[in-house]
Amino acid sequence: MDLKAHIRDVPDFPKEGIVFKDVTTLLASPEASQFVWDTWEKQFRGNGITAVVGIESRGFIFGAPLADRLKIPFVPVRKPGKLPAKTIRREYALEYGTDCVEIHADALKAGDRVVVIDDLLATGGTAAATGELVKELGAEVMEMAFVIELSFLKARATKLSSYRVSSLVQYDSE
Ligand code: AMP
Repeated sequence: MDLKAHIRDVPDFPKEGIVFKDVTTLLASPEASQFVWDTWEKQFRGNGITAVVGIESRGFIFGAPLADRLKIPFVPVRKPGKLPAKTIRREYALEYGTDCVEIHADALKAGDRVVVIDDLLATGGTAAATGELVKELGAEVMEMAFVIELSFLKARATKLSSYRVSSLVQYDSE
């Protein structure tokens, strides 16, 4: 399956100089979407994974069907102020300023073995903050899996160096 053929480049979105990797075109193809979940299902079935953690918002779209296939819980990690019950939060640095992610304090427990899912790995800041939240709840990150990896940003060697990381499509340059 040529997944790259289903990913649309949108230049200068959301601001000038960024090439946005648009996965709505991938999601519009049942064959391409099923390929993503088929691949991950094979990758994670039988690994003792106990929960799928999806990062807002495209990590929900890709993560929830995987949790369904593996018949394990789906846990959302969200931007601040969206989760209604008691949360824990992590701030992380952006190029300019900071951002923040939250998880429900009772969403995971010691002994849980999770896979973290998002559509795209860029600098790894969001995923690293998510990993910290998972660990703070006593759970273990078995793997972080992405559809797309902007490998030229070298997140695997930097922010995610302590995690096992996988991706289905890599871009070596913008
Ligand atoms: P980062 O924390 O730098 O790894 O950024 C990852 C998050 O930002 C993911 O949730 C992505 O969906 C989004 N993101 C970053 N860069 C892009 C891009 N070029 N195209 C689409 N989404 C992006």
